[in-house]
Amino acid sequence: MAALRGVGAATRERLARLGVRTVGDLLTHLPRGYQDRRRLLPLAQVASGSDACVSATVVRVGSFRHRGRRTPAITIADDAGDAATLYAFGRPQFGRSLLPGQRVLVYGRFDRRGGRLSAGSFELMCPQEAAAGALVPVYPATAGLTQPALRRMVDAVLAAAAPPEPFRVPAETAAARRLPDKAQALACVHRPASLESAEDARRALAYEELFLLHLQLARRSPAGRPRPVRRRAGRLQAAMIERLPFALTDSQRTALAEIDADLYGPRTSARLLQGDVGCGKTLVALLAAAGVVDAGQQAAIVVPSEALCFQHAETASRLLEPLGVRLGLLSGSTDRAARVLLLATLAAGGVDVLVSTHAVLSEPVRFADLGLVVIDEQHKFGVAQRAAVAAKAPAGDLILMTATPIPRTLALTFYGDLTLTSIDEQPPGRPPLRTHLVRGDHRERVYRHVESELAAGRQAYFVCPSIGGDGAAPDDTGDLFAGAHPPAAAPAAGASDSSASARALHTRLRERFAGHRIGLVHGAMAAAEQRAVLSAFHAGAVNALVATTVVEVGLDVPNATCMVVEHAERFGLAALHQLRGRVGRGADHAYAFFIFGSELTPQAVERLRALKEHADGFALADLDLALRGPGELSGTRQAGMPPLRFARLAADLDLMREAQADARRHHRAGGGAPDGGRPACG
Ligand code: ADP
Ligand code: MG
Repeated sequence: MAALRGVGAATRERLARLGVRTVGDLLTHLPRGYQDRRRLLPLAQVASGSDACVSATVVRVGSFRHRGRRTPAITIADDAGDAATLYAFGRPQFGRSLLPGQRVLVYGRFDRRGGRLSAGSFELMCPQEAAAGALVPVYPATAGLTQPALRRMVDAVLAAAAPPEPFRVPAETAAARRLPDKAQALACVHRPASLESAEDARRALAYEELFLLHLQLARRSPAGRPRPVRRRAGRLQAAMIERLPFALTDSQRTALAEIDADLYGPRTSARLLQGDVGCGKTLVALLAAAGVVDAGQQAAIVVPSEALCFQHAETASRLLEPLGVRLGLLSGSTDRAARVLLLATLAAGGVDVLVSTHAVLSEPVRFADLGLVVIDEQHKFGVAQRAAVAAKAPAGDLILMTATPIPRTLALTFYGDLTLTSIDEQPPGRPPLRTHLVRGDHRERVYRHVESELAAGRQAYFVCPSIGGDGAAPDDTGDLFAGAHPPAAAPAAGASDSSASARALHTRLRERFAGHRIGLVHGAMAAAEQRAVLSAFHAGAVNALVATTVVEVGLDVPNATCMVVEHAERFGLAALHQLRGRVGRGADHAYAFFIFGSELTPQAVERLRALKEHADGFALADLDLALRGPGELSGTRQAGMPPLRFARLAADLDLMREAQADARRHHRAGGGAPDGGRPACG
């Protein structure tokens, strides 16, 4: 795209701050709104907090000092005699050429306080200047770059007769959606005749943007490849369900039906199975695996931690082995001899279901016939890792599971290559979890409560942000892939803070809860050691577990009723929600105690409050989005999506769906790049 011409170095640098480097960038620098100069309001009718355009006379040009800087203050009055004051913050030279009695047109954001009208953000023009346009764009601007300057630059580009340019979507789609010419749509968003036409033009541009994004996603997706249809026996699934001590929830049943439709369909599938902590995703995954095994193929379940690997292997052996399904377990702690044997058995088809950590990626693992890959806690894996795991089953199906719900619009943008299934109910008979926020100096009250729970035979978790002692890593995500929630930096001298360090807390709690068995688990321990402690906790032989976030995801010990998190302010919202999801999985009342230290940032306070107020992961995901913005949200940054210039995440959900469907159809029909080979999305 052509570089900007006739623009000085200083302006160029300012434009770059807005992401504008080329003519094309300038044309796609979308106005954030429009000044409507057609409707002039008498000052008496201007609502506080709203944008308005008024015609008035300058009464007085004065100034006052604001934060030590000269700030011009211009008083204007309209024909009815009502007055308002305009404050030119940060523009000390403003008003030099204004004279009392002069007619002006003012567009501003007005506030009314104590009956006085004022505007701290405004544009002032002489009436002739204003007559030029009725709807005037207001651009995202930056210091030193004014609205009129931006408008002049855009005008210059628009005036340089752009050749007609079709949208980069298939001709029949453009016709069906009645898309105008692209150059015309761009001109229209900058210089609209009406607000409606501006919005129509923006949606046309957004549609193209989303179509190209989804086309790229469809190409990258492992889904949609034709493959032989699987034989549907259903015997194993039915036998499993029959042996369960409970009934599937309706949500689990629906999710399974959707997954089955994929598994027995004519094309490969890729599905995102979302569901809040504790809703029972593991069971759905194992049932799906059973279906594939029934058809004579293999399944692999990949998890992000050793702890989860052992747990899933145990669950699988409880549910599947009695039915004759042959299991394999591969993790970082599988010893060499066992590994060699396992790999040979897998390649020969002697293992039906493999439960594995990301070790499956570092090994030259070959399957006889891998039909299904399930990635649990998928947000803990990177894009490349997910793709590498999926590549193990080129003609197979892929299920990604996550308990970190993301708002639907974001899911469609960032996981647009996947089909979504949500489990939105918890198994019955679980009393609601109670979340308490506790100041550090009230810790003892929490301990007394935990003591009574332990005395009643129940169990507890204590989670610390760091391992502490012995010069070990100061923090411990316990993840094989460092997730998007870095625990806020641990203090440099972590060991001195005995409640932040797992080792120190373990020592302290062994004294405090003498008579109970207190275990310790963290990521710096050997995998076999971790496994021993976790099995003892599962079995109830360890009453309370002091841990780092190695227990953040997936662990399932229904007898545990207390989750105590030390320095909760150092954890992200999603991590805290996951952590409290470790309890409340049984019929007993369960409690989460988030103990906070003294160094609370306003964001930490908001996070903790949100957790106390909302039990539902989806509500929290929306809040997380609002607090941190989409770029920071779990998993999305790694997804490396291009920023969207025209589409609006919340408002364009319908467009997003349509663009996704159109792009998938185009891709399946063997459609190339709609503009004849140029790569989509740069
Ligand atoms: P998550 O979705 O967080 O991975 P899990 O798969 O770990 O949840 O399941 C949480 C617990 O709920 C497990 O103890 C599991 O046995 C139990 N569970 C799963 N489905 C049901 C059900 N339909 N009714 C009762 N309990 C269930
Ligand atoms: Mg789980």
